[in-house]
Amino acid sequence: MNTNTNPTVLISGAGVAGPTLAYWLARHGFRPTVVERAAGLRTSGSPVDVRGLAVPVAERMGVMERLRQAGTDATATSFVNRSGREVGRVNTRALQRATGSQDVELTRTDLAAILYEASRDLAEYLFDDTITALTQDAGGVDVTFEKAAPRRFDLVIGADGLHSATRRLAFGPESDFVRHQGMYVATVQLHAPAERKQDVVIYNAPGRMVAIHPVRGRALAAFIFRHPAVEGFDPRDIEQHKRIVTGVYAGDGWRVPELLDRVRAADDLWLDSVSQVRIDRWARGRVALVGDAASSVSLFGDGSTLAMAGGYTLAEELAAARTDPRPAIARYEARHRTLVDPRQGAIRAAARLIVPATRTGIATRNLATRLWPAAAAAGWLRNQITPRRQPSQATT
Ligand SMILES: Cc1cc2nc3c(=O)[nH]c(=O)nc-3n(C[C@H](O)[C@H](O)[C@H](O)COP(=O)(O)OP(=O)(O)OC[C@H]3O[C@@H](n4cnc5c(N)ncnc54)[C@H](O)[C@@H]3O)c2cc1C
Repeated sequence: MNTNTNPTVLISGAGVAGPTLAYWLARHGFRPTVVERAAGLRTSGSPVDVRGLAVPVAERMGVMERLRQAGTDATATSFVNRSGREVGRVNTRALQRATGSQDVELTRTDLAAILYEASRDLAEYLFDDTITALTQDAGGVDVTFEKAAPRRFDLVIGADGLHSATRRLAFGPESDFVRHQGMYVATVQLHAPAERKQDVVIYNAPGRMVAIHPVRGRALAAFIFRHPAVEGFDPRDIEQHKRIVTGVYAGDGWRVPELLDRVRAADDLWLDSVSQVRIDRWARGRVALVGDAASSVSLFGDGSTLAMAGGYTLAEELAAARTDPRPAIARYEARHRTLVDPRQGAIRAAARLIVPATRTGIATRNLATRLWPAAAAAGWLRNQITPRRQPSQATT
């Protein structure tokens, strides 16, 4: 926007999309402020991917080398049966070599920290606070915070994730936009190195899976299971989460009993619905959404990559705008939806592979990984999870 002073933008959320957007807005001459509910950066995290679309964004931010250094060491996925015998295997490193892929897998914590470090000298950060009310008129948005004094901004962007407060305040209740996909996901740190330092080990029973990820010496257990929406589900009630996980996995084999003991003792168990966000428009006047808040594809669909690409595209369109940001936000939405929509449709195929619903489904998946050469099988698996069309540019 071309106004007399540099426009001010409030971004809610310092996860993946928020710091990326802050960085690029500052580079384009805006004055970004980021408000983050957490008191500091996250202390635990699941492995996520920075893939094709986000790689050029990271390179232009000068953080690609840091992302690589923080990458996990996992080079293969091993599928085991209830006695721990390997019954299928995918060599992900071989696939990377074969395709020349620049993808990096790292924890969401490390990704958020690296993006924060890249943007912290360019943006104002307010930790341990949240937006409590938004009132907009033709010229700006009046914002009240839980702790900070009220302020007025030219724009407000919600980058506050699946359970976005910005979306609730400006668009309506979460139940209007967030769709449960028939699964839940839980993670817990094991506080010990994994036995297999370079393998992600996955055990399946019909409708549920458990994985142990080595995560550079900070092993993490992940539970993904098919389950209808739990009535009265509370994303912050850890005792409820323990009951759900231990109930669903009771009686399972492999290392599940010991992992459930860890769940019972944990104070860091995290559990949430596997959900997608569907909204007809990503903006209401001068308040817009980016990342999971706008279009969560769930954990099966390049959410981190899309969050980075979305932040980049939004900043680029705002920078090209004249005085009115609304057409720029509409152009961002039109461009970015072409990337998000195909991925939102890929969830069923991904779920069939990662969490087969039946014994036959599990056996078929395992057989496929044994019959085919490793790289081909990995490529096949990956193509089921992500759409085949990979734009070569992050912004097109
Ligand atoms: C278990 C799991 C595994 C996943 N695996 C993958 C994967 O393999 N590959 C992949 O690409 N993606 C994966 N994802 C998805 C990916 O993590 C998200 O799509 C991505 O993090 C979205 O980024 P975001 O910035 O939009 O939201 P988030 O990363 O969720 O960040 C939102 C930020 O907003 C903050 N916030 C929340 N509420 C408020 C508030 N009221 N006020 C201020 N701040 C607030 C939060 O503390 C957080 O810092 C996975 C997700 C999960 C849960």
